[in-house]
Amino acid sequence: MNLILLGAPGAGKGTQAKEICKKFGIISISTGDMIRDALRSGSDLGLKVKSYMETGKLVPDDIVVDIVKERLKKDDCKNGFILDGFPRTIPQAEALDIMAVKIDKVIDIDTPDDVIVARISGRRVCEKCAAIYHMENIKPKVEGICDVCSGTLLKRKDDEPSTIMERLKVYHEQSEPLKDYYKKQGKLVSVDGTKGIKNATEEILKALVNTL
Ligand code: AMP
Repeated sequence: MNLILLGAPGAGKGTQAKEICKKFGIISISTGDMIRDALRSGSDLGLKVKSYMETGKLVPDDIVVDIVKERLKKDDCKNGFILDGFPRTIPQAEALDIMAVKIDKVIDIDTPDDVIVARISGRRVCEKCAAIYHMENIKPKVEGICDVCSGTLLKRKDDEPSTIMERLKVYHEQSEPLKDYYKKQGKLVSVDGTKGIKNATEEILKALVNTL
């Protein structure tokens, strides 16, 4: 099963991707995580994307499309995958169609801006394994320490309030039109992102069971 997860930054894509992967034995491909890895490693790619990412802008389509194209060639994608954070623009979706990658369903986690802002402000991410926490909703067992790998939990640079507003603007302008794009392909499923993590997972799983 190959899936796409859509939703504003902070809608819970990463958290839901983890649950879906566990349930269906597929892998999650997060372009955001791959870009952050490139930044951390100081690679050429990292240097190219640094300024976009840190100011809440999208990395240019050709760069992200190349990253995803290479990633999808790997063997671990053969049993199925979730694309978390890709596509984020219509040209990226068109590039994916041209790659002739079969997509079964596109899940949109629908969450209003005010909920997003509150949520992102409390988000913390493990610097080592990228596990996601929230200061109120998903607390680690020990404050500031990752339950999975004991890494330090940090606030993402692009989760600062001024950058969040820019990311939301970019989302509405460039990514939200993808809902219509996939609706026209008959693949879109929308779930309510405001009723808690468990509720959203249940809604997603219900929609996916019919896909198998
Ligand atoms: P995320 O972790 O998915 O919120 O992504 C963090 C940042 O990585 C975004 O704000 C963009 O700068 C960049 N990014 C991730 N995925 C994409 C994409 N598909 N297209 C362009 N930029 C992306």
